[in-house]
Amino acid sequence: MIDCKKFVETLEGKPVFVFGLGASGLSVIRALHKAGAKIAAWDDDVGRRAQAEKEGASLADPEQGGLEGAACLVLAPGVPLHYPEPHPVVHAARRAGAEIIGDLEILHRAGHGRKTVGITGTNGKSTTASLIAHILKQAGRKPVLGGNIGVPALNLEMPAKDDVFVLEISSFQMDLCPNFRPDIAVLLNITPDHIDRHGSFEGYAAAKARMFEGPGTAVISVDDKSCRAILKDISRGGERDIVTFSVDKDLRGEVPESLAVCILEDGAVIDMMGDTPVEAGNLNQAKALQGRHNAQNAAASYAVCRLLGLTPEEIAEGFKTYPGLAHRQLCVRVINGVSYVNDSKATNAQATATALACFQNIYWVLGGRPKAGGLAGLEALTERVRHAFVIGEAEDEFSAWLERHGVPHSRSHTLEMAVAEAHSAAQQERGQPGGAGVVLLSPACASFDQFTSFEARGDAFAKLVGALEA
Ligand code: ADP
Repeated sequence: MIDCKKFVETLEGKPVFVFGLGASGLSVIRALHKAGAKIAAWDDDVGRRAQAEKEGASLADPEQGGLEGAACLVLAPGVPLHYPEPHPVVHAARRAGAEIIGDLEILHRAGHGRKTVGITGTNGKSTTASLIAHILKQAGRKPVLGGNIGVPALNLEMPAKDDVFVLEISSFQMDLCPNFRPDIAVLLNITPDHIDRHGSFEGYAAAKARMFEGPGTAVISVDDKSCRAILKDISRGGERDIVTFSVDKDLRGEVPESLAVCILEDGAVIDMMGDTPVEAGNLNQAKALQGRHNAQNAAASYAVCRLLGLTPEEIAEGFKTYPGLAHRQLCVRVINGVSYVNDSKATNAQATATALACFQNIYWVLGGRPKAGGLAGLEALTERVRHAFVIGEAEDEFSAWLERHGVPHSRSHTLEMAVAEAHSAAQQERGQPGGAGVVLLSPACASFDQFTSFEARGDAFAKLVGALEA
């Protein structure tokens, strides 16, 4: 657990108000209670309120003046700060003059004195954060991985003096960080997602850009327009060193002003962080890093690990041994040559596009609670799909889209039905040219209409697949 005494000293005896009592909210209460802070807390859920009391908080309804006198409001990243409209607790905090922050800001204000690597972007954050931590560990370092992945920030162990925090940072968390800026800030990509929570694409991009203010190093993709626009701003600001990376372009021909890394189509990793470009291994040997999207994650990770002093050989070894993350294009079973792939983490069309691009003869299980934009962007990939099986709240919208694009599909309602139907079709048709086929759960939707989380959805898929008759 992080020692938060330095942060608590800055409160001058005033209480902290914690709203939203999930894992991160409760970890804030635990850490601040231990450091001697007065804590008030609230959540709409009675059970969670009881747990907060057990951890040492007193309960106070923010709509009944509970925030009066509080130094700050610590908000869970899932609670709307701006859009579609600020949650009433945000208005209450503004009325009471309380600063609004998140747990990463408290970690920063705790004055831990360690280097921080922060990873953000629309897709690939967890993969990149865990890949960086994996490579560092393989090379004998002891990084501490957390933030939006795994352990909440204030529950983390302290890294040793020369080691680093590797933090996955969502744009919602960045919105709650008035001061925290990672020493090495990574931006993987920006595509339209979560727009409902930021009001506009520009608002979303602006939230990501905030991470690069002030001194440090920016590791930033040049493969999409929004990243390039942010790069221009950072270069103009002149405060951050810059390392660019690409998987679409051979940057050796570009004479980049900054240090750079690129990964070529054949998987060759080109390191331009020294005086002359060198080829530093090949991703062909990295089983869990296949596909353009993973090359992007690998390029960013390569740059970060070089900045932290690792050799190209150490990084190449880390790529090779990286095991991958659950629920991200993970093959859970093969039956008669047909693969059953769990990509439950693909909660938007962009993430699903990367999965569709990796396979042929796809029996596609999709749907759930749709995001703004629906399936837009997947048009060119539909020829890879043999049949789609739609579930959940997205059924009407997605069925209409599939109809318009000539994709055979069924309304399967539930995951159970979709898996049974997809299995039956894939097994019957497995003599097709282009391979035996793949039953792919890649929903392009949030899970919350039928499941508690994308993990629960992926686990349910794996269980259903495990029970199928061969
Ligand atoms: P995040 O933490 O940003 O949600 P993950 O690393 O958990 O991202 O990956 C989620 C899904 O997004 C993966 O299953 C994969 O299909 C897709 N994905 C991973 N990396 C990228 C990338 N760099 N660009 C686009 N899509 C990606």
